[in-house]
Amino acid sequence: MAKAVIAIHGGAGAITRAAMSAEKEQHFRQQLAAIVSAGQQILASGGSALDAVTEAVRLLEECPLFNAGRGAVFTHQSTHELDASLMDGRTLDIGAVAGVSRIRNPVLAARKVLEASPHVLFIGSGAEAFAAQQGLTPVEPDFFSTPERWEQLQRALGSEQMLLDHDGAAQESDPLDPDRKFGTVGAVALDLQGNLAAATSTGGMTNKQAGRVGDSPLAGAGCYANNATVAVSCTGTGEVFIRTLAAYDVSAQMEYGGRSLQQATASVIHDKVQELEGSGGLIAVDAHGNVALPFNSEGMYRGFAYVGGEVEVAIYRDS
Ligand code: ASP
Repeated sequence: MAKAVIAIHGGAGAITRAAMSAEKEQHFRQQLAAIVSAGQQILASGGSALDAVTEAVRLLEECPLFNAGRGAVFTHQSTHELDASLMDGRTLDIGAVAGVSRIRNPVLAARKVLEASPHVLFIGSGAEAFAAQQGLTPVEPDFFSTPERWEQLQRALGSEQMLLDHDGAAQESDPLDPDRKFGTVGAVALDLQGNLAAATSTGGMTNKQAGRVGDSPLAGAGCYANNATVAVSCTGTGEVFIRTLAAYDVSAQMEYGGRSLQQATASVIHDKVQELEGSGGLIAVDAHGNVALPFNSEGMYRGFAYVGGEVEVAIYRDS
């Protein structure tokens, strides 16, 4: 029987441990642990990896601490444009949506694309119409707005930068400097039947131009799953993760290069992404149930649990 396991991330970025209250850190850790544990229970009761990653990402989207679903960042034009994707390692089926602003849970729309459409990626109003047709209740775009994200946009507009590059001071409320963090969320899992799945969802980058799409909805870049090798979900400088085909490269290094999960994931994050000056990380689970959570930023919100095991969560390099 497979060693069933789920891993999740809530984004990577510049860490400012000193600026964080113990209370806030506790809040992040509790949320991460609760979501890992929800995914772990699905796997423990015989649920599929696809169901476990869908539910974990839906819960991360519902949590305003993370830049996906509610709490998504603003574009330069003060709108929200959300992206999500999901891949089934058993069938290599993919479902994805990009540039949507009226779908409460983009990962559920991606799941509908995977299950109910011959296509793999829908964008904008077409994606929203498809989701509504499939029975997902639409929301107004301001559903996603939070005061914290609005302030983040104002700081970005003031400095005329996209916030990925911004060096603004850390906010008390957030252990990762909110001006330099990548808040994308994701999950990867191996179920008791030996099937792998991955899902990724994001609001993108604060102050991005309307219409910009990052790696998150692109299978092979921000998300990939193949039962023969690995399931991967990425977070970071989207353009670099697209240019390096980061998620697929992990799989290719394992399949064609005979590399271990640890070697392949380290090579992608610490060599390939780093060489193009990308920042961020990924979570990955291989077909044997090994887990890797590498990142080249100061921190990454992350957690994992094996069925029957303890829930582990971490934010910094050391814990
Ligand atoms: N990778 C995402 C993007 O470029 C950003 C993130 O990870 O937060 O849209």
